[in-house]
Amino acid sequence: MRLPDVGIGHFMDKIAEMLLFVSLYLGDYPVNDLPALRFVSIEDIRKLCDGHHCSAYYSRQVIYLTEDYNNEILFHEVVHHHQEMTGRWGTVPSRERWEARENEAHVVQKIWNNYK
Ligand SMILES: [Zn+2]
Repeated sequence: MRLPDVGIGHFMDKIAEMLLFVSLYLGDYPVNDLPALRFVSIEDIRKLCDGHHCSAYYSRQVIYLTEDYNNEILFHEVVHHHQEMTGRWGTVPSRERWEARENEAHVVQKIWNNYK
């Protein structure tokens, strides 16, 4: 696993900006801890997603991407990092929590898409 040859600073700036956007939009406090990025194969991502159709994955402060990710995919996972770090859905039972986190990530992703 390695980062594509665009430099780590590129990712730090991009992710920090995405995290700030999520904080401002949700009115939640800023998240200063950046997630780790791991570039893996699509097969590995499908395994992480329990065979579901997904193109990236987030767990325990790590974003798993394929090398042909796009910014929208990255942004979606950054929203999950924000949710995790702020504990926004921490007290909601797990099934509803999963749905609430996904719904929220899609809403914020749509706003971000219109904004940029
Ligand atoms: Zn998601």
